[in-house]
Amino acid sequence: MAGVDFVDVRKSFGAFPVIKGVNIEIEDGEFVILVGPSGCGKSTLLRMLAGLENISAGEIRIGDKVVNALPPKDRDIAMVFQNYALYPHMTVADNMAFSLMLNGSSKAEIDKRVGIAAGILGLTKLLDRYPRQLSGGQRQRVAMGRAIVRDPQVFLFDEPLSNLDAKLRVAMRAEIKELHQRLKTTTVYVTHDQIEAMTMADKIVVMHDGIVEQIGAPLDLYDSPANLFVAGFIGSPA
Ligand code: ADP
Ligand code: MG
Repeated sequence: MAGVDFVDVRKSFGAFPVIKGVNIEIEDGEFVILVGPSGCGKSTLLRMLAGLENISAGEIRIGDKVVNALPPKDRDIAMVFQNYALYPHMTVADNMAFSLMLNGSSKAEIDKRVGIAAGILGLTKLLDRYPRQLSGGQRQRVAMGRAIVRDPQVFLFDEPLSNLDAKLRVAMRAEIKELHQRLKTTTVYVTHDQIEAMTMADKIVVMHDGIVEQIGAPLDLYDSPANLFVAGFIGSPA
């Protein structure tokens, strides 16, 4: 496991700055939520941490390692996306095994890791199904299973629940938190839903237009918002 540091991180697309000097310290094992309105730069920050996007300036560290120039495969992270991106022609087991197959793990090792992840996520009886034969919640669990099998230092989630209906969303919040309590893996989770942030995070990072407005525990933000933007954003319903 490892913490994550963003040090004066900047990003422009062409001449257009979208991340304007961001500093965030994430402790080993912390569950941190980046929250803010659509377009404020949450996904860009996550994609830079994952190595899917270059950074224009600054430094990103995972543990003691500066990862700015490392390709995604050399960063010990696993990402769960909004649209799951499951392979429709592969079974649940193969969806979970795929990244391990790519990196050359042995069949025994793959079976072991998939078995453990399936047990944790309640997917043991569904390993031979195809994604089309699963409910929305089950698909979400398979997407998480693909991340868990890699046993990464850091989990990244980008709006993982936004395609689910309201009831399932509430249930999956609890499942993701339980998973974190069990594995204690450092987690960076993006949402534009302030209720999700308030109920799930150890620490919330409120973003607005490419900058960080405030970082704090949910109750600290609620009790002592740094400015009107934070007060309005945290206080308003989803
Ligand atoms: P969020 O995830 O908070 O909704 P994003 O990080 O996706 O926001 O986007 C932040 C800003 O960067 C937006 O203005 C978006 O249009 C812009 N942006 C994101 N990706 C690209 C890209 N590949 N090329 C140009 N602009 C982009
Ligand atoms: Mg986004």
